[in-house]
Amino acid sequence: MSLSANAIVTGLSSILGADAVIAEAERMGAYLNEPRKRFHRAAAAVALPPNVEAVQAIARWANENRVGLIPQGGNTGLVGAQVPLLGNEVIVSLARLDRVRAVDTAAGVMTAEAGVILENAHKAAEAEGAMFPLWLASQGSARIGGVLSSNAGGVNVLAYGNARELTMGVEAVLADGRIYNGLNALKKDNTGYDLKDLLIGAEGTLGIITAATLKLYPLPEDYETALVNIGSPEAALDLFQLLKGRAGGRLNAFEIIPQIGLDIQLRHAMLDADPSAGPSPWHALIEVSRLTGNVPGLLQSALEAAFEAELISDAVIAESLADRTRMWSFREQMSECQSKEGASIKHDVSVPIAAIPRLIAEGSAAAERLAPGIRPVPFGHMGDGNIHFNFSQPAGVDGKAFMARYDEAVHEVIYEVVLKLGGSVSAEHGIGQLKTGLLKQVKDPVALEMMRAIKTALDPNGILNPGKMLG
Ligand SMILES: Cc1cc2nc3c(=O)[nH]c(=O)nc-3n(C[C@H](O)[C@H](O)[C@H](O)COP(=O)(O)OP(=O)(O)OC[C@H]3O[C@@H](n4cnc5c(N)ncnc54)[C@H](O)[C@@H]3O)c2cc1C
Repeated sequence: MSLSANAIVTGLSSILGADAVIAEAERMGAYLNEPRKRFHRAAAAVALPPNVEAVQAIARWANENRVGLIPQGGNTGLVGAQVPLLGNEVIVSLARLDRVRAVDTAAGVMTAEAGVILENAHKAAEAEGAMFPLWLASQGSARIGGVLSSNAGGVNVLAYGNARELTMGVEAVLADGRIYNGLNALKKDNTGYDLKDLLIGAEGTLGIITAATLKLYPLPEDYETALVNIGSPEAALDLFQLLKGRAGGRLNAFEIIPQIGLDIQLRHAMLDADPSAGPSPWHALIEVSRLTGNVPGLLQSALEAAFEAELISDAVIAESLADRTRMWSFREQMSECQSKEGASIKHDVSVPIAAIPRLIAEGSAAAERLAPGIRPVPFGHMGDGNIHFNFSQPAGVDGKAFMARYDEAVHEVIYEVVLKLGGSVSAEHGIGQLKTGLLKQVKDPVALEMMRAIKTALDPNGILNPGKMLG
């Protein structure tokens, strides 16, 4: 049975009241237009439930009427998981569930609802002298439910882990409207399957997260941040090992960026000044946190040792918050800067960290053989083995024609190298609707069967984010 869009709006309005249902196309724009502008299907409606009970009522009704529901947070996802695929789904925005229910620094736990904007979660923790260390460039819009459902990573994964490691428990509404109350704050709990970890990273296909208990950490007193010049990814790998040996868990970021990324940002006036020590094949943004009692200067002495060992040729150490901000802006602008140079082909991949130099060398060579003049722009979370392996079109060619000819072919050669090196075709951003075909091709068939069995058990009518992830 499938309801008409009018019947869907009527049904939802009777549950939530008309004010909490958006049915007009123009007003749905903010919920439909995703960051990459790749997906353009309509929705039957957008529902804005004010509380958990309303989310339960929507799920019960949708399950009875076989209406597809797409949970949505900040709509910053990059694989089209939070926007329609079929054109007749209801987007369930969790934006109104935006209360931080509790911050308990003694227990090191914050309980936040799904609609809390990530940056507001940071502020709530900091107000109590603690830190929630999940930092993303999209943190001003991304919401806790979306961050967990995409198992987001970001720039602090090295020291603190990604969303799974930072979450102790979740509360979620199941497809039939029942509530799973897993809001615990236990370090140890071996009472069966880890349902929290199943819901995290499920992209809204197994349940609608309504709240979570999140881990808090001591707020560092300060940071030591540097932008260093490196000759090659091999040297970057050695530098990473040296820093891990000296800083251990205090090393929170090790991000690499090729010179072309700096050139593009300077060419398009995206930076007010060059944050680096000058041109170099590669730059690494490195950050070490300083907790109470730590002696300053750890990063400086480690970099001196790296210089002696000829792993780096030069470095700028941030001397002020403004320096640090400039360095991080350079890193965070890498995702958007390529659009200034025309068309680009992007991959969010990971390999075992020791294989990163091979990934970059073999992937760049394969793409250059295929599309002469293509410009490799691989950058990102080297410390996590996660590279955003992007390519810019050759200068001066027609972007549309370039994409039509090379987009798919470049994906194929890069994924081939990634899989050969034992890597993943989606390190951070997930599957959504962008990579469902790819998942079927590359995922172990037994793993796919297990995933389908879990989906069928928890959502037998397939109402939660239909068509996403498993296709
Ligand atoms: C500039 C930029 C930088 C980014 N940087 C990073 C990065 O460094 N690391 C990284 O991992 N990602 C990054 N992303 C991707 C994205 O921001 C993250 O995946 C983010 O966690 C998504 O949060 P959101 O609230 O916007 O989720 P949405 O985009 O709204 O949704 C994402 C997924 O979660 C599901 N979902 C949303 N809310 C719920 C809920 N309450 N219950 C169940 N399912 C739900 C949706 O259905 C969808 O499948 C970046 C994106 C941008 C635009």
